[in-house]
Amino acid sequence: MNDTDVYPSAPRADAARERSLDLIGHVSLSLGIDILLLALFVAAGTISVRVPLLYAAIIGATLAALRALLQQPWVRQWRDPGLTRPALLLLSAIELGFSLYSPPLAFYFLNLLFLAFAFAALNLDLRGMLSSFILVALGGMWVRLRLGDALHIPSRTGAEQVLVWLGHASILLRCCVVGWYGNRLSLQLQQRNHELSEAAQEITYLATHDNLTGVLRRVPLWELIERQPAPPPGHCVAMLDLDRFKNVNDRYGHAVGDEVLRLFATTVRNAIRPGDALGRYGGEEFLMLLAGTAPAAALAVAERVRLAVANADWPRLAPDLRVTVSIGVAAGKPGETVEQLVERADRAVYAAKQAGRNRTMLLRDDGVFEAATPPEAVPAG
Ligand code: GH3
Ligand code: MG
Ligand code: MG
Repeated sequence: MNDTDVYPSAPRADAARERSLDLIGHVSLSLGIDILLLALFVAAGTISVRVPLLYAAIIGATLAALRALLQQPWVRQWRDPGLTRPALLLLSAIELGFSLYSPPLAFYFLNLLFLAFAFAALNLDLRGMLSSFILVALGGMWVRLRLGDALHIPSRTGAEQVLVWLGHASILLRCCVVGWYGNRLSLQLQQRNHELSEAAQEITYLATHDNLTGVLRRVPLWELIERQPAPPPGHCVAMLDLDRFKNVNDRYGHAVGDEVLRLFATTVRNAIRPGDALGRYGGEEFLMLLAGTAPAAALAVAERVRLAVANADWPRLAPDLRVTVSIGVAAGKPGETVEQLVERADRAVYAAKQAGRNRTMLLRDDGVFEAATPPEAVPAG
């Protein structure tokens, strides 16, 4: 166990304090019911009027003192910033004290211990709960022995019998309400956990995906390439560079340029397998990872992508718009860095541009460029 387990962090301390203040509100309400019942026992002649007056004064003052203490900033530093354990021990001591002070209602004050523990259970850990239980159980035993045969349930008159049952029933009802309240807290916690995990997923998505095109950002794709297992079967990367994209922006405007990048990304993603990956390398340059693919097969896939781009529905964005891409493919070699691999794919793109654009080029291991497209260049932009 480290320090953070013993002394809660500031947000946890604040949460415990808020819960305690909330619980004090509920205990005050519960005290109202007790005073009403005690007043009825006074009317039935079971106890003197001093009992409810003293009980209201002592519990009222205790709750007020706890509330005032909980507002103090230094209480946040305490191991139990909700003051739940001291509150439980204080309330239990008061109930035990009143059992001795008013033996005819000892049964009622002893039963109120159930309620005090039920309230405290909402804000106590198991250790705090068990240590409080041991102290209160020992105190209860002492009180029981002091009471001797004075402990009996009042049942002289019908009114007393009804009031005794009302006392039991009111405690039963309050225990049910505390259980329901605890259940509601746990449902709220579940809901909050669910929202948090959804938000975390959203943040991870935004951090790893390009917000314009929805494909991977450069760093996560880079890491994905780094994690590729060594051959066989090996992997290839393809650099995709839109042809004369500057002209698209100049002629149709930046907004259409953005739409082109979006449609381009969708077209490429639809043309590759789910196991392959597409990322935005920067601007109008994209990088594709073809996992478990040998160079010849990668060249064929890249060529399929090039054709898919050339045949995409570009006029949907602007009537006479045509967009093509030049693609450079390189195969991963054991022991080389991702930088080296991408640099070779970049050289292959440059060769494709030099050869007239709208074509796919592989930089083979022997340093020779291999074109996948027929030599006649298709005009681009
Ligand atoms: P080449 O065929 O030689 O690749 O020519 P190019 O015009 O595509 O290349 P160049 O590098 O000269 O121009 C790239 C252009 O891409 C310039 C830049 O304004 C544009 N661009 C980069 N990122 C974005 C973007 O997010 N949206 C838009 N609309 N344009 C972008
Ligand atoms: Mg470029
Ligand atoms: Mg370009």
